[in-house]
Amino acid sequence: MATSAASGAAGELSEEQEAFRRVVAAFADEVVAPAVDGYVAEGRFPVELVRQMGELGLFGLPFPEEYGGLGGDYLTFCLAIEEIGRVDQSLGITLEAGVGLGAAPIAEFGTDAQRQRYLPRLCRGEALAGFGLTEAGGGSDVMGGTRTRAVRDGDEWVIDGSKQFITNSGTELTELVTVTALTGGGELTAIIVPTDTPGFGVSPPYRKVGWHASDTRELTFDGVRVPVENTLGEVGQGLRQFLKTLDDGRIAISALAVGLIQGCVDECVRYAKEREAFGRPIGANQAIAFKIADLEVAAQTARQMYRYACRRKQAGLPYKREASIAKLYSSEAAVTAAREATQIFGGMGFTTETRVGRFYQDAKILEIGEGTSEVQRLLIGRDLGL
Ligand SMILES: Cc1cc2nc3c(=O)[nH]c(=O)nc-3n(C[C@H](O)[C@H](O)[C@H](O)COP(=O)(O)OP(=O)(O)OC[C@H]3O[C@@H](n4cnc5c(N)ncnc54)[C@H](O)[C@@H]3O)c2cc1C
Repeated sequence: MATSAASGAAGELSEEQEAFRRVVAAFADEVVAPAVDGYVAEGRFPVELVRQMGELGLFGLPFPEEYGGLGGDYLTFCLAIEEIGRVDQSLGITLEAGVGLGAAPIAEFGTDAQRQRYLPRLCRGEALAGFGLTEAGGGSDVMGGTRTRAVRDGDEWVIDGSKQFITNSGTELTELVTVTALTGGGELTAIIVPTDTPGFGVSPPYRKVGWHASDTRELTFDGVRVPVENTLGEVGQGLRQFLKTLDDGRIAISALAVGLIQGCVDECVRYAKEREAFGRPIGANQAIAFKIADLEVAAQTARQMYRYACRRKQAGLPYKREASIAKLYSSEAAVTAAREATQIFGGMGFTTETRVGRFYQDAKILEIGEGTSEVQRLLIGRDLGL
């Protein structure tokens, strides 16, 4: 159970937030943990678990009730990601991307008609949406790397191009992808593309180093026609929209990283007490206890960082720098935590039968997705006036 996660949370969450966190923690331990190994081993998208998460309301957590959401705050959504991520990162990123990249841009920037049309199914987890920004030409330099074009033809956009590494874009639940494309004078516009539109192509899943049970695909657009009313908000707002989407996403990725670090702490405490070498538990050696103490320091520090960024966001204060700091620190701490936890598990740590072995595979992408560590440092430096 999430004993140490609970102690990390004590006293700083509202009763409602803490109650919800406990519900998700129990779901993660009792439902996700026993089922997820099979999906990860087979590299299969865990559609049944995703549906159950939908029934719990997780995909609608931060959205208004009028659109089928739970009307929760962003911190509660991050608590859910942390708790799912503590047990399995593939499912954690599926939730993070489903809400943060799939539904949130529609909730935040969409017209009321778009919200009415798409959000209820997304909130219930009956449908998933992706957000297609990255292309083969570049993910960090989006403006320089975007080649996908949308040309106006009467009342329609005609989209040609491709996108790389798009999460949740090819699952059996996926119904739409919001894609950024160059329009008119070279500005970026986000357009909602239903996945059953002719000319929309989905590659087989990538063979990834980690996140084995999450869905990541390359997408192609070959004369894809959608009505102009599928424009997300207004023409030319794509850059502003994705920058805001990524600021929020970085807080959520930080929460996912904290889940991984906490999972390492929990697993290592258990294993260090059970596993014996030279006639005593390995945890009786300071060399092991100190490693675990450092993991706990990282979990608590990173947790405070994402919660601080959340609170600033919720209070209407600037939070861009804090979101980048949280993402940068916790993703790098997660990579270290996964490496140290694997070491503590010895040979067993190098098998994907152990949670820490899977975390070792899953951790690296946290330093890359939704803005690399270099990009976070660039943003923090820029915010400091450099
Ligand atoms: C599993 C997975 C899921 C993903 N999901 C999505 C998704 O749903 N939607 C989406 O749009 N994208 C998604 N991505 C893409 C991801 O966001 C990009 O991979 C990431 O932003 C980096 O872009 P890139 O891969 O093009 O690397 P590049 O931009 O080519 O960068 C290569 C290296 O150069 C460094 N670099 C670049 N510019 C600078 C600079 N100015 N100073 C210093 N260093 C620099 C980078 O930090 C990196 O180390 C996903 C990627 C993966 C692997």
